[in-house]
Amino acid sequence: MSAELAAIYGEERLPRYTSYPTAPHFSPAVGAGSYARWLAEIPASLSASLYLHVPFCREMCWYCGCHTQIVRRDELIAAYQGTLRREIELVAEKIGRRIRVEHIHFGGGTPTIMAPEAFTDLMAAIRQAFFVLPQAEIAIEIDPRTLTADMVEALRLAGVNRASLGVQSFDHDVQIAINRVQSFEQTASVTGDLRRAGITGINFDLIYGLPHQSVASCIATVRRCLELKPDRFSVFGYAHVPGFKKHQRKIDEAHLPDSGARLDQAGAIANALKEAGYVQIGLDHFALPDDPMAIAFREHSLRRNFQGYTTDTSEALLGFGASAIGHLPQGYVQNDVQIGAYSQAIAAGRLATVKGYALTDDDRLRADIIERIMCEFGADLGAICARHGTAADAMLKSAPRLKTLISDGVVKLDGDRLAVPSDSRFLLRSVAAAFDAHLDAAKHRHSRAV
Ligand code: SF4
Repeated sequence: MSAELAAIYGEERLPRYTSYPTAPHFSPAVGAGSYARWLAEIPASLSASLYLHVPFCREMCWYCGCHTQIVRRDELIAAYQGTLRREIELVAEKIGRRIRVEHIHFGGGTPTIMAPEAFTDLMAAIRQAFFVLPQAEIAIEIDPRTLTADMVEALRLAGVNRASLGVQSFDHDVQIAINRVQSFEQTASVTGDLRRAGITGINFDLIYGLPHQSVASCIATVRRCLELKPDRFSVFGYAHVPGFKKHQRKIDEAHLPDSGARLDQAGAIANALKEAGYVQIGLDHFALPDDPMAIAFREHSLRRNFQGYTTDTSEALLGFGASAIGHLPQGYVQNDVQIGAYSQAIAAGRLATVKGYALTDDDRLRADIIERIMCEFGADLGAICARHGTAADAMLKSAPRLKTLISDGVVKLDGDRLAVPSDSRFLLRSVAAAFDAHLDAAKHRHSRAV
């Protein structure tokens, strides 16, 4: 059944639904003026989360899909850190008070490319501009190949309590093909250093569908990772979009696994992790049963934002840095992707927002349904529609793709309750897409469903 469904749906180009509508629908109609207004309107009852983007790396991994660039001169990184600090002050001024902050996430690029003292300064600026709650989660993405002991100490002093380590694959042939050679020993050493520093929330990122990857190499990578017992895994399918990411042209397409092989690899990784005691969460996360993400999944409070699955329930996500996306109750905003233009705007005392999206009531309803499908493998359409003052019948009528998915057995509809059976969960994005009123306009921009 899975192979048949993969053949039917696997080649579809679909969003990952880390937002709804998705980023290709953002437009310049929402700019710095809208963002300033939206910030001033944030209700006093709301707390916020912060995302800080650091778009620099020392070397390019050929599979990379992030907004990043290779940098050799440390002065550029130092100047960028100064711009982030100015942007933090600007945004705090527009909000007009020290908003409570529950989550902070440093992503990239490689955030730990900053000098340790620069990172310490940045955290001090954040704490001055915002009220970072004592229990706040402070997370950072780490490239284990370049993390220094001084940076580990700076992370500890700054109160960082969660780290995501890029692992991808320990298979040497795969590592050569993706230009990312990283030994098990490097990963083990960094994991140990972080834990000794009290940074005990450890995530590993793995990828399947890379050149030369096989089921055997995926399982071998998982086994090595399990020796280090991270709390969570993120497992992503490689998204090959060389038209958008030019460095991906260095990947030889002849060595990329097809949809069927990708499905086998994803399944093998999932089974190995579940056998080891991890709980599968949504499309691509796995967590130990006592991890906060597994608890949020059990308690139906799991959310999805631009970083993927999250325990963060804040209604305001403030994005800082070039390309960073923010999400406020009124809609989405995105900063200029170009570091130069972003920096010039901030230096001139302007917000660097260049596009965004103002949400309609229909968007909010569909966003809720799609988020529940992505987080819980199903959705109570009746309850969600009632919360939005509408009826499930009307929503079902406006989702014509759903009929085909139901007749193919990808999803079941019992009354108003939608459920995705375990053997078709790998097609979760296809089910979510059935409720996407904007899909056709941007289909070519997304990666394959499997
Ligand atoms: S370290 Fe991460 S962000 Fe940097 S090039 Fe590699 S995959 Fe991309």
